[in-house]
Amino acid sequence: MKKLLTLSLIWISIVSCQKNPDFDLLIANGNLINLETQEITKSDIYINNDRIVTINAAKEADRSAKTIIDATDKFLIPGLWDNHVHFRGGEQLIKDNEWFLSQYIANGITVVRDAGGDLTPMVKKWQQEIEDHERVGPTIFTSGPKIDGLHPTWAGSLEIDGKESIDKALDRLEAIGVDYVKLYDSKISASDYISTLQKAEERGFVSSGHMPFTVTLDQTIDAGIDAVEHLYYILKGCSSMEAEITQGLQDGSLGFWDALPQLQNTYDRDVAYTTFSKLKNNSVFVVPTLHIGKTLSYLDEQDHNKDSYLSKLSDEFKETYKGRIKRFENSSQKARDDRKQLDQFFVKLAYELNKAGVSLLAGSDAGAYNSYVYPGPSLIGELKALVNAGLTPAEALQTATVNGAKFLNKETDYGTIEEKKMASILILEANPLHHINNIQRIHTLIHLGKVYPKLVLDSLKN
Ligand SMILES: [Zn+2]
Repeated sequence: MKKLLTLSLIWISIVSCQKNPDFDLLIANGNLINLETQEITKSDIYINNDRIVTINAAKEADRSAKTIIDATDKFLIPGLWDNHVHFRGGEQLIKDNEWFLSQYIANGITVVRDAGGDLTPMVKKWQQEIEDHERVGPTIFTSGPKIDGLHPTWAGSLEIDGKESIDKALDRLEAIGVDYVKLYDSKISASDYISTLQKAEERGFVSSGHMPFTVTLDQTIDAGIDAVEHLYYILKGCSSMEAEITQGLQDGSLGFWDALPQLQNTYDRDVAYTTFSKLKNNSVFVVPTLHIGKTLSYLDEQDHNKDSYLSKLSDEFKETYKGRIKRFENSSQKARDDRKQLDQFFVKLAYELNKAGVSLLAGSDAGAYNSYVYPGPSLIGELKALVNAGLTPAEALQTATVNGAKFLNKETDYGTIEEKKMASILILEANPLHHINNIQRIHTLIHLGKVYPKLVLDSLKN
């Protein structure tokens, strides 16, 4: 922290400062990119505290602020959102989870959507401290604990078994003050899953989830889900045999992993387009999580042992990576081949969804247990994966900015660079619309009005 302060002071001394100005901060003469229209306007952005006050066409005369950043020839986009992360792993991993907060900032990520874990009281504490400028970290939106059935896979989940427990779980989430409700599919029954979505909708919660294969995607959309996490469930809704396969899951003759190749083989273009329209018409967002898919599908081809990020993680944290690695090592060649094929299929599916006008959310799924999916860099990996899938850089960047705000109904304050919104702005050395890699060429990050020059961001990585 001391190091950070020293660096900030160095910075402030090298940008212009004026006496008695009306504004705390001015980002002068930058190329402001509108990611939705791709228009670029030379702008002066005036900030007070943590909000943007005024945006004017760039004009040299009358510029005045306590701190002025010369953004001539720089490119401005909103701070990035990672729309699927996890803070989890129990008390012994709190230090690692705490360190990740700074890693999001170091990578230009100013908002994370926590998709459930077992550290909710800590997450709520960090959320407040960040908002109060007492801690370096991104704005956090959290689901609190996940909702699942009895004896769920993930520690900390709220266990649902019948109507009463659904009301209780939602009461609990209301009391915590969560930003949305996240459903998981390890144990929850089909009827409890649908009822939970309906009740959450009645109470005005935004919801997202996995989906038990014992229900259909249509039922899930009709019950009111607002975002589907991962593409397995979208794939299910694109099969001409969805009803039969769902029946197999219900009577126990078919398992999740057996169903996947069958769903892939029965992918039907017409069914898919009907499903895409239904998602679009119901404003259901989809979180493709391509980067983690690729990372976990190619563990036999990609050697991660020399990843520099690994050396920053505690031994206890790295221990959580071993489960997925072991399962992969023990899998048959056929299972590995199937998985790679599915991964390639998902890349095409993400492209088709986007082309059909379904709103996507960039999410990394970074956190304990998700091997080599590093908090911070993996969102950059997700953006590159989306561009590799065929999205334009502008489209990919929308999935990591404005779409996240739209999904959580936070557009009044977040998601774009506009007057009265929170001042979280990524200042880049080169145009990210020309090449997505340019999002790594950070000049300065502004988060809630605070200035993080590149030097400071780099120092956070150590
Ligand atoms: Zn997840």
